[in-house]
Amino acid sequence: VWEKCLLIIRQSVDPQSYQTWFAPIRPIALATNELTIQVPHRLFYEFLEEHYIDVLKRALLAALGTAGRLQYRIKPARQEASNFPVGKNVGHQAPTPSNPFVIPGMTRPRVESNLDGKYTFENFIEGDCNSLARNAAKAVSDNPNNTAFNPLVIHGPVGLGKTHLLKAVGNRITEKFPHKSVLYVTTDQFTNQLVTSIGSNTTNELVNWYQNVDVLLVDDIQQLIKRKKTQDVFFNLFNVLRQHNKAIVMTCDRPIIELDIEERLRSRFQWGLTADLSAPALETRMAILASKANANEVLIAPPVMEFICYHIQNNIRQLEGVLNNLVLHSGVNNGKQIDLELARQVLKNFVTEINREVTPEVIQRTVAEYYNLDVEKLASATRRRHVVLARQISMFLVKQFTDESLKAIGRLFGGRDHSTVLYSIKTVRDLIETNDEIKNDLADLERRIRAG
Ligand code: ADP
Ligand code: MG
Repeated sequence: VWEKCLLIIRQSVDPQSYQTWFAPIRPIALATNELTIQVPHRLFYEFLEEHYIDVLKRALLAALGTAGRLQYRIKPARQEASNFPVGKNVGHQAPTPSNPFVIPGMTRPRVESNLDGKYTFENFIEGDCNSLARNAAKAVSDNPNNTAFNPLVIHGPVGLGKTHLLKAVGNRITEKFPHKSVLYVTTDQFTNQLVTSIGSNTTNELVNWYQNVDVLLVDDIQQLIKRKKTQDVFFNLFNVLRQHNKAIVMTCDRPIIELDIEERLRSRFQWGLTADLSAPALETRMAILASKANANEVLIAPPVMEFICYHIQNNIRQLEGVLNNLVLHSGVNNGKQIDLELARQVLKNFVTEINREVTPEVIQRTVAEYYNLDVEKLASATRRRHVVLARQISMFLVKQFTDESLKAIGRLFGGRDHSTVLYSIKTVRDLIETNDEIKNDLADLERRIRAG
């Protein structure tokens, strides 16, 4: 039954949180409709109740029906092994999966970086979307003691390379400054260590232990939201580390200013440097895909790559997912070539609509049809109101869907100059804000254009 619950839970929480909060739970008894699970300590249980109660309820409902009930049992104290690195006791503890940071028996506890060598600057493709963040990350790696970069916060939506860059910093520093101890930790891992330490009354030791770290890399600090206690302790830790001029690099899925945490913490996060990652342009996506294909030793023809990158726009992890699937499928089919057909099949699992290439002609035709006009009218000199509007909307959409320059767009619409095009685009943008009818028209039009 618990297996079934876990299956459902796995679908609703991210892998890191799953590992941290659900993997340690042990099912110990099942009596009619009551499932008893064992958690490591009371605070663990409280954390589950506070943050994951809905997920648990849903899982229980699916596994046991409406009568299902859940009981918690706290793990008996004698089995309890403190789960984070603690100075003197280190010698008695073996590193565990949730505690990969300790090598026993050293006087100044050596810090295991919790990094792997997979993510480096060398295999991070540069593009306009990431050059600021990449340069900032490099600057920190070259000069971890420079307070101007401390802390560095890299922010951006999921799948754009935050973790990659963060780990690249760690790997570069480990290489260049072998005597510095580097630690990579996710905010979730940190919370887990903290919760454990509270359970065993060793929070001070935890904070002390962290002072052995010279470069602290904290991933996904948006996970601080709603974790008051974690924020408090992290605040102290942050101050101590920064006082000792230890480097701190963090990532976040949103700009710090939008991060809903204590003000004192937020303002400190803004002391150093922030750099954002945005969605890569088509050429950058192509370069990334090519480099990953290369690393996997698979060959994909450029038109197929372009087809894939055209459809996966906002998430590099998805791009990798497509690649992995392609490799898998072509392998299963005895080295079947990765062609457009296979790509189309695989992409169906990643995007809802596979569009044809959108051209200015498609847009003009779609808009003309929508407003019941002859398509030639769009390029004509007519100044009739509804024609002007349709023309402006077409220009706006061409700008939005294609790479045409303002000048080229002007040419497509009867040789209008680029300031006219600019004015049209601005007009439509304003109308979308103020006029619901136009806004709906545009949503309709976009759908039609995508559908080809
Ligand atoms: P995030 O942490 O922002 O969600 P990740 O760092 O996990 O994203 O990146 C997702 C995947 O995309 C990783 O496998 C990473 O290697 C890859 N990736 C992202 N950006 C690039 C890039 N510019 N060059 C090469 N790989 C990239
Ligand atoms: Mg990440």
